[in-house]
Amino acid sequence: MAIKIFIDQGHNPTGYHNIGASWYGLYEQDITYQVGIYLADMLNADPRFEARVSRPTPYTVLGTNNTTSLAQRVQMANKWPANYFISIHANANENTAINGTEVYIYRRYTQANWLAEQILDGIVDTVGTRNNGVRVNSSLYVLKYTKMPANLVEMAYLSNPGDAEKLRDDQYQFAQGIFTGIMRYFGFS
Ligand SMILES: [Zn+2]
Repeated sequence: MAIKIFIDQGHNPTGYHNIGASWYGLYEQDITYQVGIYLADMLNADPRFEARVSRPTPYTVLGTNNTTSLAQRVQMANKWPANYFISIHANANENTAINGTEVYIYRRYTQANWLAEQILDGIVDTVGTRNNGVRVNSSLYVLKYTKMPANLVEMAYLSNPGDAEKLRDDQYQFAQGIFTGIMRYFGFS
């Protein structure tokens, strides 16, 4: 039986509700969409995995408001049911000096925690972003209501010029970093 991984590409297409951050002409929702597609393709090319994405096309819109948009993602993963849930995002801060990668989990000392450490290291090793550590946030909807180990990956800061360049040019490498982390978590090579 393949390991079922649900990839949630954060936010909805531009022009709808639940859209993401936007800096320097880059849109979080477009970057998360593409990284999710790359990652799903990598996983589905390996018979040990089966991947599904929340937004299979660039036009897919989930939910009718912010809350139902998040609820629909969680519902898709719970209903499948996925073995792991990975939500992909890009961060932003009004302090444009802040940069780096963070992976959020619901609580420590869980499978989600061990997976998060590997995904974080995988991205940092592959893309060269700063390691901001695994962080706990028990109020994030998709971490709270998913029934399987869940990670929310903040790949890098759109608001930081150096990170923004990576988010624009290295989308395949971000996917590769997450993929590497997943492989290391399972002890695959
Ligand atoms: Zn986001």
